[in-house]
Amino acid sequence: MADPDLAAAIKSALAAVEIPGGGDLAGYAGLSEIIVTPSAVAFAIAVAPGMEVAFGPAREAAQRAAQAVAGTRKVMVSLTGGKPPTSPSFSHGKTVAPGKASVPGIKRIIAIGSGKGGVGKSTTAVNIALALQAEGLAVGVLDADLYGPSIPKLLGIEGRSAIRDDGIFLPHEAFDLKVMSIGSMLVKDQAVVWRGLMATSALRQLLRETDWSNLDVLVVDLPPGTGDIHISLAQQTVVDGVVIVSTPQDLALIDARKAIDMLRRFNVPLLGLVENMSYFIAPDTGTRYDIFGSGGAESAAADLGMPFLGAIPLVMSIRQASDAGTPPMVAAPAGPEAAAYRAIGRQILTQLPAIPR
Ligand code: ADP
Repeated sequence: MADPDLAAAIKSALAAVEIPGGGDLAGYAGLSEIIVTPSAVAFAIAVAPGMEVAFGPAREAAQRAAQAVAGTRKVMVSLTGGKPPTSPSFSHGKTVAPGKASVPGIKRIIAIGSGKGGVGKSTTAVNIALALQAEGLAVGVLDADLYGPSIPKLLGIEGRSAIRDDGIFLPHEAFDLKVMSIGSMLVKDQAVVWRGLMATSALRQLLRETDWSNLDVLVVDLPPGTGDIHISLAQQTVVDGVVIVSTPQDLALIDARKAIDMLRRFNVPLLGLVENMSYFIAPDTGTRYDIFGSGGAESAAADLGMPFLGAIPLVMSIRQASDAGTPPMVAAPAGPEAAAYRAIGRQILTQLPAIPR
């Protein structure tokens, strides 16, 4: 069925779903647009504050009704008390999230963020995940970077993740990491239509409806900057800490400061700053060049009152290995880049509350 037809068919099916106060869901003003992608259908039901519990049965009925029409596509229906703010505009100190929940089967969640794109956040996320694995931990990666989901490419993963009969996602496996990507639900250039609610709904389901099978650590690759995904993750999930990746240029650090400020307001622990593309090692002589000046991120970390976790050099081998779908931690585990990632992984572990065995 063509996508617009499927959306219309689902909307018709929602006419059979009763909502609190009378009436049906298809005619309800709080029903969002129905988004159809090759593997998923997503929509949200906006409800007045305090009405979430009353709408619970309607959400479940909507899920069933939509699933009956959607075939093999995974249906994601979320209830929302209204669109969360997209910028940290709350000026009364820290925002305390009442409804944070941990994810069953995952002991620790760490997120990797950056002020802007292109600083090597995803590359760093993948190699940090592998560095934590090298410490003997069971690790997963959730690619939540809606605007540039690059984790599948970095890990050489193709195709969509499988869905079990009971609707639970089965993650991809790469280098013994369990991997899910929001990208596998999108077709190219579709991110723009996945506005706030759709994106946060997808994130919640990827987190909570994936068979992660007992991870010690889930590494979440956030989109750059700040936005709905960050706010939703920070509000709804117990995040043990965030690592910020930055390049040495001041501009990137200014952007990074904004992201850090937002996370602080949500009381998300900041594990520290990683400086990526920090210095250049000449392939022929091995000489180190601090091409952007040195110590920018380290002193910025001190300014920001957060630990400096380490620096990763700008080296061709990182780009080449990453582009080939084999992260440097795997391609050259004895190399200096892998050593730098491992040192960062160990630093992160010292910041995390001990992981129960
Ligand atoms: P982001 O997630 O911040 O958008 P990516 O991780 O996708 O950034 O990296 C952007 C590009 O920079 C990729 O081509 C990647 O291979 C390259 N890259 C990342 N880190 C390094 C590094 N330390 N040295 C060389 N190239 C790097």
